[in-house]
Order: sequence, then C-alpha cells, then structure tokens
Amino acid sequence: MFIVMKNRYTENELADILDRLTQMGFTGHVSKGVERTVIGVVGQTYPELKDTLEVWPGVDEVVPISRPYKLSSREFQPQNTVVKVGDVTIGGEALVMMAGPCAAETEEQVLETARAVKAAGANILRGGAFKPSTSPYSFRGLGVGGLELLAQARQETGMPIITEVMTPEDVGLVSRYADILQVGARNMQNFALLDEVGKAKKPVMLKRGLSATIQEWLLSAEYILAQGNRQVMLCERGIRTFETYTRNTMDLSAIPIIKKLSHLPIIADPSHGTGKWYLVTPLSLAAVAAGADGLMIEVHPSPDHALKDGAQSLTFNNFQQLMAQVVPVAASVGRKMA
Ligand code: PEP
Ligand code: MN
Repeated sequence: MFIVMKNRYTENELADILDRLTQMGFTGHVSKGVERTVIGVVGQTYPELKDTLEVWPGVDEVVPISRPYKLSSREFQPQNTVVKVGDVTIGGEALVMMAGPCAAETEEQVLETARAVKAAGANILRGGAFKPSTSPYSFRGLGVGGLELLAQARQETGMPIITEVMTPEDVGLVSRYADILQVGARNMQNFALLDEVGKAKKPVMLKRGLSATIQEWLLSAEYILAQGNRQVMLCERGIRTFETYTRNTMDLSAIPIIKKLSHLPIIADPSHGTGKWYLVTPLSLAAVAAGADGLMIEVHPSPDHALKDGAQSLTFNNFQQLMAQVVPVAASVGRKMA
C-alpha cells in the first residue's frame, strides 16, 4: 500500500504518519520525488487499512498495490534511482563501464588489468576474491588476499571496485574493501545475505538468479530495500534455457522490462550472459541499445591462462575495441560515457 501525500503536507504530518505506522506494526519508507512524496507501507496490510489511512492529516490518497514488490517498483518511486560511487554515477544519463578479471589471481594480473581497462575508459574495476563456483574443485578465489589486491589497484588507478560477497558473515569484511557489494546469481535468493547487505552502508549490485523470473529478482531486491539500503542496482547476466550453445541465454528483454517496472539501475553482463568472448561485444551493443545503465565485462591479460572464465574474457585489445563500438551506440540512445 502507498500513501500519497498532499502537495502541501508538513514535515510534522509526515513524521506523525511514520510514527503511527510503526505503532501499528508497519514500516513506512519515504520516497520524496519532485512532484510528490510517497510512503510505502510495508507489512501485512489489509483492504480496510486504506480507509483508516486516508483520513490522516497530510494524506491525499492511499493506493493499494497488487504487485508483491513495492519499494523496488516505479509506483513507489517514479524517478530513477541514481547510485553514486565516488565520482561515478550509476543510473543517470551516463553509461557506466565496469571491467576487470573474473577473479583476482596475482598482483600483476590485477594491476595490469586495472590499468588497461582504465586506459580504455572503464569507470569501475570488477574482480572476484570470494568466487562462487558450481564445482568445489574450481578456483574459489584468493579471499582476503584478493580484496587486498583490488584495494591496491583502486589506490593506484582511483577506480572504485566491485566485488562479490557470498555469506552474511563476510559482509562486514568485504564492505571494508569494496565500493559496491556484488550479490552473485547463485545467491540471489540467499535471504540471510540479502538482509545483511540491506543493512550495509554500501551500494549493492544484485545479479539475476540462474533461473529467476523478473518478479523473483525484484522481490530479492525488495529484501535489500526493506532493510533500508536504497543504493541497489540490478544485473542481467543471462538465464538458463534449453540452449546449450551459449553458457546462458542473455535476456535482453529484461532490460526494458526492469526499466518499466522499477526505478533501479540495470547493468548488463554479457560475459556471463553468453560465456563466449566473441559474443560479448555484440551483446554489449544490444544491451546498451536496449537501455542498460552500464556494462560489466570480464577482461584478462591472457584469457587462455585465466584461472576462471577465460573463454568469456576479453583481451585488453578486444576490450578497447568493444569500447570504441559502444560509444556511438550509447550516443544513439542519448547517453554519453561516464
Ligand atoms: C561473476 O561476476 O564473476 C559471477 C560469478 O557472476 P554470476 O554470479 O552472474 O555467475
Ligand atoms: Mn566470472
């Protein structure tokens, strides 16, 4: 249920409403837009509540909402969420490029990659220290050592870093290093983790689950938002279909669908979305044309020798070429580069 405030409500009236909602066992989440202020009422609402709330001072209208996700919906917040990370703005006019290795492997590998992607125009450095892995025998990341390498690369290049956190217990640790916390596809419905990153004071990028519907994905974002963290972005990274030629099927339609249903920024990850390096550029261009707010691209100094995801990683040269092709496509949909 949403409470739409009158045009000229007072701050006292707003505070009063939030107090009364708390007393009734609900939580009120406020969204102040240019045109109107909306309170998202979260809790076990019931139809008669509409009549109760509508007579409260300052209230213009109470709108029941049938969608199960509320705080992530456009109805709650018509204007786009803009996440600020250092000098980088995600979800605004500019297209944001996140790039780096799948996993941090060595100092040389991380630093070289960071320098190369920065020189090519990337804004944010990606890299895994805690790697989720389908097989327990695959490389599972350097852990804290990997976080240290990423921090070193940030220190040198000035690029903010995004890295995955896999368990609720690690949120504190990873938050001390990361500028953006990544929740991986395999953890999209790890509700304890979602609660915990919801309490963190860091932006979160929530990847779409391997077989998650758009509604399930938005409900997972809802967990984070409901804990009070509004700095949330989504990432389409391909879904499982009957097709086996590609690692996943990149669901490009998800991009405009998310834009329609939600105010959260949407990043596209064609590296995991396709699993093949030569598909990364064409799908990047398509994702930008479809309205993505940013791209996440895996880049490695020597993909053949990568400990993880080499087949989908771009060389420095290929990443440069991708950037050169992205710029005019971004411009054609009215976006400049961040
Ligand atoms: C990654 O970004 O390296 C990763 C593991 O992605 P996903 O969770 O989408 O598989
Ligand atoms: Mn990867």
